[in-house]
Amino acid sequence: MTSRGAAEAPAETPAADGSHASASETVAHPARAATGTAARDYSARGWRVLPLHGILRGRCTCRRPCGPSAGKHPIADAVPRGVHDATTDLDILARCWSRWPAANIGIATGQGSGLLVVDIDPRSGGDETFARLERQLGALPETPRVSTGGDGVHYYFRWPAGEMRSTFGRGIDVKHTGGYVVAPPSRHASGRVYAWCAEAAPDEVALAELPNPWLAAVRRPAVAVATTAPDRVCHVPVADRVRRARAYVAQMPPAIAGNGGHAALWAVAVVVVRGFSLDPQDALPILVDYSARCLPPWSERDVAHKIEDAMQRSTAPDGWLLGRGSELSHGS
Ligand SMILES: [Zn+2]
Repeated sequence: MTSRGAAEAPAETPAADGSHASASETVAHPARAATGTAARDYSARGWRVLPLHGILRGRCTCRRPCGPSAGKHPIADAVPRGVHDATTDLDILARCWSRWPAANIGIATGQGSGLLVVDIDPRSGGDETFARLERQLGALPETPRVSTGGDGVHYYFRWPAGEMRSTFGRGIDVKHTGGYVVAPPSRHASGRVYAWCAEAAPDEVALAELPNPWLAAVRRPAVAVATTAPDRVCHVPVADRVRRARAYVAQMPPAIAGNGGHAALWAVAVVVVRGFSLDPQDALPILVDYSARCLPPWSERDVAHKIEDAMQRSTAPDGWLLGRGSELSHGS
């Protein structure tokens, strides 16, 4: 969402790489050659793919201090709208991987790919939460499973219809529409690679359904969040929020039909109603102006619908773009 002006560093060639590869990097070559192949395999399954920055010589190829995002964030030159530009188009993917052969692979989760991924991060207490959930809800069935380079595990499931929360609790995230996971054989900042677990690759085991007790545990209540939810206690004046939201949205790329246009409009709606904590009546003119830049522009009715949708379904924290020290106070 920030400026995309800076050019991405092009990937280095394998030849240049090999001349001073360390022991840990020599094993990187098969994986690097394989990320483009894997991207094609995933897209053939209908999983939408996006190129992420890779790890070369222990550093993120963005060459910026990107911290815990190293090797995990989209290559902005390739996918300006991030996960919303994920695709199954083989030509686009081939072009991406010929330009960025060291790219890591992201797989978009949610309805578009037909995937829900349960992401267990032991460093955040995910193992304890998982053990408790298995006792309460039963064991998870056989399904494709990834060992991340950072000791975590990703369980892949068939996408279930309906709304859900983004977490099962401490250390266990639920990746759904609007999210993505880093996929094998991407390289983790630790130097290890993401890998399918033994006998749990997608060509060895079919995608399972998330068992009902687990699904019930992450279901969002069907009750819509009222457009004047009681926790929207924001003391930044509306006029300020409108002005800042307009400036922010002006920097966002237009929605293009057939190229994730709905997702792009959704992202803008979330920015306005959640990021800047604006009510629908204040959000509408901003979205209508944005829509005029889109191809084709959206009807006001579609825009209003998207705003309602964002109000009800977005799990983004209210006022997250109002900045530190904003006079935002949450209800609880
Ligand atoms: Zn980076």
